[in-house]
Amino acid sequence: METRIAKELAVTAQGERAAEIIRTCVHCGFCNATCPTYLLLGDELDGPRGRIYLIKEVLENNEVDPVVGQHLDRCLTCRACETTCPSGVEYGELLEIGRELVTPQRAFSLRARLTRAWLLRVVPDARMMRRWIRIGSLVRWLMPPKLRAALPRIKKIRARDIERPKHYKKVLLLDGCAQSAVTPHVNQHLIALLDSVGVETISIGGCCGSLALHLSEMQQAESAMCNLIDSLTTVLDKLPDGGSSSHSHMLSGEQRSEQDSFSRHKFAKVDAILSTASGCGVTVKDYKRLLKDHGEYAGLAAYVSDKTVDIAEYLSELGVKFDASEPDKAVSWHAPCTLQHGQKVTGLVENLLERAGYDLLQVRDPHVCCGSAGTYSILEAKLGFQLRDNKLASLLAEKPDIIATANIGCQSHLQSGASIPVKHWIELLAPVE
Ligand code: SF4
Ligand code: SF4
Repeated sequence: METRIAKELAVTAQGERAAEIIRTCVHCGFCNATCPTYLLLGDELDGPRGRIYLIKEVLENNEVDPVVGQHLDRCLTCRACETTCPSGVEYGELLEIGRELVTPQRAFSLRARLTRAWLLRVVPDARMMRRWIRIGSLVRWLMPPKLRAALPRIKKIRARDIERPKHYKKVLLLDGCAQSAVTPHVNQHLIALLDSVGVETISIGGCCGSLALHLSEMQQAESAMCNLIDSLTTVLDKLPDGGSSSHSHMLSGEQRSEQDSFSRHKFAKVDAILSTASGCGVTVKDYKRLLKDHGEYAGLAAYVSDKTVDIAEYLSELGVKFDASEPDKAVSWHAPCTLQHGQKVTGLVENLLERAGYDLLQVRDPHVCCGSAGTYSILEAKLGFQLRDNKLASLLAEKPDIIATANIGCQSHLQSGASIPVKHWIELLAPVE
């Protein structure tokens, strides 16, 4: 697709990158066939090709038609279009640039502004999120049915009273924000699983920045990313053989290579950085790109990205066979978009569950988003719930006992409409005795 970016934007790194991505699109329209919003609404401007045109127009004219914001808002950032596109168009990155240009010029309604402010303030802060859930639980009976169904029920965690085996590996596990408030038992279960096969887990608290990134609040997103990098490096510094963290000042070339070898040494102390929420994993794996121009954090961000793997990748690599924690249960698997399209991790969870003894049921249209998509189910509730109901119809068609997934957003969103348990797939594996 030819494009002539407006002069003021063409000289920026963003403008250059956007033009580069737009030029790879041959406007064939294949992507529309797998785009959930195009399939629901049937409007070209609510499909990837139409949105690419809209972003192109913004870049060429350097002005924003109010309608553009609405069509970009309706995009789930599920990236199913990237998986389908034969030309390798990096739509997710283009949308990120488009939203970043458009968002500051938008006139949001008071309600939208309040909701965005609430999301940005509460969700990334696990303690505050827990407080809101507790208050919500007290007045659950007063809530309208939809809100009541969406309010999570937090499981009590029982400490395992077993003798710990010798650890021969060490990993860092991202606690996440929403997940650590809503389903803390998932990471606890993973810690027990890893412990049972000799892997020690060190939990790292803090938000990865993906929620703010999703809302195009770049400053807040970058600050959360840098804070998480600080937390990770502080822990790594304290591990045996630790050097001191030296990333808090600008460095000359010589100092930089010295810092690089420090960082390499530091990150070599752990086997991997893990996340059980695929929505966090996809963002942390992308820190290398997102923080590439962020001075002193750029180098560390690259190490963090390179070291981060999804828990399914890590367990597959370990090669351990786990048994089923719920044998004889029929399971429908829902792969979050952030796992299958964002991280391109496909087939691994299915394999681990099948090796544990589960028979996974057939699910129609497994590539289609469930409508959770970060903050989408709150900000675009009507479409979000339509997509949820369609997804549940596919997942429930073969009458499973359990729905399994890999991201806290999908889990809570699907659970709000399902009468059977929706679990993180990790919970379906039993620690090795
Ligand atoms: S499939 Fe790819 S090349 Fe074709 S219109 Fe969609 S984004 Fe462009
Ligand atoms: S990211 Fe998803 S919703 Fe957005 S254009 Fe691509 S396929 Fe459609």
